[in-house]
Amino acid sequence: MVDLKGQYEQIKDTVNASIQEVLDTNTYINGPQVHSFQKNLEDYLGCKHVIPCANGTDALQIAMMGLGLKPGDEVITADFTFAATVEVIALLQLTPVLVDVDIDTFNISIDAIKKAITPKTKAIVPVHLFGQAANMDEIMELAAQHNLFVIEDNAQAIGANYKSQNGEKTKVGCIGHVASTSFFPSKNLGCYGDGGAIFTNDDSLAHILRGIVNHGMYVRYHHDVVGVNSRLDSIQAGVLNAKLPKLDAYNQARQTAAAKYSAALANHKNIVTPVVVGDKDSHVFHQYTLRILNADRDGLMQHLLDKGIPCAIYYPIPLHAQKAYLDARYKESDFPVTNQLVKEVISLPMHTELDDEQIAFITGSILEFLNR
Ligand SMILES: *Cc1c(COP(=O)(O)O)cnc(C)c1O
Repeated sequence: MVDLKGQYEQIKDTVNASIQEVLDTNTYINGPQVHSFQKNLEDYLGCKHVIPCANGTDALQIAMMGLGLKPGDEVITADFTFAATVEVIALLQLTPVLVDVDIDTFNISIDAIKKAITPKTKAIVPVHLFGQAANMDEIMELAAQHNLFVIEDNAQAIGANYKSQNGEKTKVGCIGHVASTSFFPSKNLGCYGDGGAIFTNDDSLAHILRGIVNHGMYVRYHHDVVGVNSRLDSIQAGVLNAKLPKLDAYNQARQTAAAKYSAALANHKNIVTPVVVGDKDSHVFHQYTLRILNADRDGLMQHLLDKGIPCAIYYPIPLHAQKAYLDARYKESDFPVTNQLVKEVISLPMHTELDDEQIAFITGSILEFLNR
């Protein structure tokens, strides 16, 4: 699905030099590379505070801890996403409230959020799924009306821009009260191990978060709040420093590949290609995901795998139907879109090194199956 080897070949010298610098300075934890990466990412995003941490799941958890959410508080998030989002809500003994998504963007449905808000609701977690910015104007407006926090799960959309009604563009992850991201190797900005970060423009929240990632310490050996141990290590920060200047070019390469896929697969009766809502730069194509209508989606997947083409179903089971997150409050009729999408979606290889020949082979193989 990704070609990290091919990408590494292009940036080998800078990455190796970055790692060598960490080895030479011998500061593996909290080294200067971590601080410079934090600053570089703040500048790139135009966001006041970046707090690096160990992974994207921790980032979500720490964001929720920092907001002071209490057991029993309800947190609304999308039914169609990776489980990390709902997992940390449940882990903190908050009450996850899963809601349906929109059929065209795969992102959380504004109408479904409205229906799910109760007096106990404290936060909304939109996920910018597959790289497409969620509808932040409406989400922020709803949050303001009901006095809710907005936590953006930005693991899949780093670098995407959101254009609000007033025409202003903001990097996704810098719009809500706080955001999380992941630097897992296959993400749009990936390191060579685990990594993550929390973003916020709120000075006092940033201070709280910096303590929580470090055992709740603000002064050495004084533990003011219950914290965790969640660090980005210096070697990963070095890799990220080498890759961050390339992020816009990487996202453009993904957008170009997506446009080529869509051109080759346009106007086929069994295929719905992904839509981009807003300007071109509002979708950074973490995944390129088709919907297959009135055809054998699983047969297509097997056909592609047989031809040596990687592909995957993101996500095969709605979160509301997962054993760990069953809840008597849910009715199947609350999730018509997620229930439909899990049967229709298929994600194709998407990365920075896709060439025309590969795209032609992949799209040709899809059409060959659907047209026979
Ligand atoms: C990858 C991902 C995460 C978790 O990130 P990790 O670094 O693997 O913990 C969370 N949410 C979404 C939507 C993701 O895609």
